[in-house]
Amino acid sequence: MEAKQATDYDVIVIGAGGAGLCAAIAAADAGARVALLEAGKRVGGSTALAGGFVLAAGTAQQRALGIEDTPEAMVQYVLERNGTTSPEDVVRRVCNEAPRLLEWLGEIGVEFPVSRLVSPNQRMIPRAHEPDGFGARIVERLDYELSKRNVDLACNSRVEELLRAADGSVCGVRVGGESIAARAVVLSCGGIGGNPELLHRMLPKSHGAGDWVWHVGHEHNKGDGLRMAEAAGAKICGEDSGLLLATPNFHRDLEVIGPDWVMLVNTKGERIVREDAAYWELSEALEAQDDRRGFCIFDRELMLAAEPDPRVLEALAAGTISLSWIPRVLEEQIAKGRVLQAGSIAELAALTGVDAGGLERSLQRYNALARAGEDTDFGKATRSLKALGAPPYYAAEVRPAIVIVTGAGAAVDGHARVVKPSGDAIPGLYAAGESTGDVYGRYYVGSGYAIASALSLGRVAGREAADFALAQR
Ligand SMILES: Cc1cc2nc3c(=O)[nH]c(=O)nc-3n(C[C@H](O)[C@H](O)[C@H](O)COP(=O)(O)OP(=O)(O)OC[C@H]3O[C@@H](n4cnc5c(N)ncnc54)[C@H](O)[C@@H]3O)c2cc1C
Repeated sequence: MEAKQATDYDVIVIGAGGAGLCAAIAAADAGARVALLEAGKRVGGSTALAGGFVLAAGTAQQRALGIEDTPEAMVQYVLERNGTTSPEDVVRRVCNEAPRLLEWLGEIGVEFPVSRLVSPNQRMIPRAHEPDGFGARIVERLDYELSKRNVDLACNSRVEELLRAADGSVCGVRVGGESIAARAVVLSCGGIGGNPELLHRMLPKSHGAGDWVWHVGHEHNKGDGLRMAEAAGAKICGEDSGLLLATPNFHRDLEVIGPDWVMLVNTKGERIVREDAAYWELSEALEAQDDRRGFCIFDRELMLAAEPDPRVLEALAAGTISLSWIPRVLEEQIAKGRVLQAGSIAELAALTGVDAGGLERSLQRYNALARAGEDTDFGKATRSLKALGAPPYYAAEVRPAIVIVTGAGAAVDGHARVVKPSGDAIPGLYAAGESTGDVYGRYYVGSGYAIASALSLGRVAGREAADFALAQR
């Protein structure tokens, strides 16, 4: 579709989640006349539902704890993890911008206390900065900053398509049946989690979980960014990029930490990972199995002693989750037959279909490690390495099935410009956040990388779009 009317705005930003709010603020600060169009009733997107962790290296919080770290070390970590599945110029931009982003968020009133700086997993140094007030606080402060600027914000405004000039450049949007012209457009309309067809096409790793798959994220994130970018001639990439969380099939809620007190096996009965690994590592271990599933095995004594991780309790108090791995819920699920109960390991193997010999061998080995007080096989912390004793025994099936972050969408360069399959930028089109492809890479980098990249690239996209637009005036 071509736009024929006069230019209404310098920059239109589509989607007012974390990336879009940052883009709109940055574009306005660069002197552009900006409109921010949001499909939902209010701003925030998935960012407002998030824990709010921001992954960043070389920050004031790290220095306060005497931690030596640099953006370059984070670049190397991301590249090692994701190899060529995330473009180096984009990784560099995100890692270099992330400490500046954190500083700026601090200036606008989002506090990242030193006491909340954590290691995303057992191998990484503390880099995940958690704000007071979770992602909701980040959104609240961005919204306040937006209100101080002369940005036209329209909620309940779902953009349908991009307008293109005869030369292929993007020159506006179509929303509510009307065309609005702009010199540049930023796609920041989140990911594809709410679109089963796009999930099928771009996140094949979710197929293994069958009908267990469900999306946790903003309801309007239906892949519009990917769809509109594709129609504008963008390179679409990021197949199987994104984060699935492992879940049992008995509680449709989000409890990503734990249970670390079980023995986790595949259907051959083999242990596959330290059970206290980070949530994305648990998912990856399950995704690596032929049938992409596993079973949490435990006895009654362990179940009755189950206590949620303190950080889960904090999220619970904030009302963002309810608990799955606690005795009351487990008892209910045993009664419903979703958690299987058996009088012997052989019987449990028969009930679950897990290889009986493998399960018996793993149990003997696991108990021996627990008695020795050291998991020399996988390195699980001794605190949660507890032998299984007398029957009854239990098994809860887990699959990586919760779609929480998707990374399939428009290919961008280090300037957040959307590029064609040829690598050339599409004039006037920028993208940030989950609407981009390959930015997260094939493997999830760790808690806080999604927000760090969405907000950092959002700021870059806003500045670059404004510069492009102002140069056209
Ligand atoms: C429960 C949960 C916890 C998380 N915790 C963390 C964490 O601690 N740290 C971390 O790094 N990541 C976390 N993530 C992931 C992270 O929050 C997201 O990847 C990131 O916030 C995405 O930002 P975004 O701006 O791309 O999308 P969003 O914040 O989802 O914003 C997209 C916006 O676009 C709007 N939109 C969609 N289509 C259109 C359209 N056609 N027209 C107009 N508007 C449209 C949507 O309504 C939405 O408001 C979490 C995610 C969830 C769901």
